[in-house]
Amino acid sequence: MNKPRILLAEDESILRMDLREMLKESGYVVAGEAGDGDKALELAHTIRPDLVIMDIKMPKMNGLKAARIISRSLGIPVLLLTAYSQKDFIEEAKQSFVTGYLVKPIRKSQLIPAVEVSLGQARRIHDLQGEISGLEAKLETRKRVERAKGKLMEQNGWSEEEAYHALRCESMEKRVPIEELSRRILGGDVKGSA
Ligand SMILES: [Mg+2]
Repeated sequence: MNKPRILLAEDESILRMDLREMLKESGYVVAGEAGDGDKALELAHTIRPDLVIMDIKMPKMNGLKAARIISRSLGIPVLLLTAYSQKDFIEEAKQSFVTGYLVKPIRKSQLIPAVEVSLGQARRIHDLQGEISGLEAKLETRKRVERAKGKLMEQNGWSEEEAYHALRCESMEKRVPIEELSRRILGGDVKGSA
């Protein structure tokens, strides 16, 4: 498996350097670094990291806003860094794909497990999204076959079984999957006269 690629957004350069070292020592790739929210947003779009580690208090655009945009538009998880624990920011963070937050000073013993949890959550969400699209596609296919069947029934005065039988026969004869044949029938390319 490829090493996870991380975008690091932190305006304090010394802390950013520390974080970079901690991540590198643990086998992660720091794919980009930003010192403000705008830059973080720009880099997230261009490098598409697996995870963004983002300080909340940064110039130009604060980390919370940047996290919200990144998580919503790109589906990339964000691990937030903060100088203090505040209730209102936690509330706001919940709206985004924020997988956790760490309170400074950041220790390697806290950072690495938090990064691992975030990456694990992101993988699970991607898997689920994949499953959902698969199910949606299947449902779409079924609906299309149903509609094609309906069209054949209407055109030919067939029963449902007759229409389905005709679809199956034509599909086998032409070596065209039944869903593709249905698409053609609905598009009017094929009469479905089998
Ligand atoms: Mg800061």
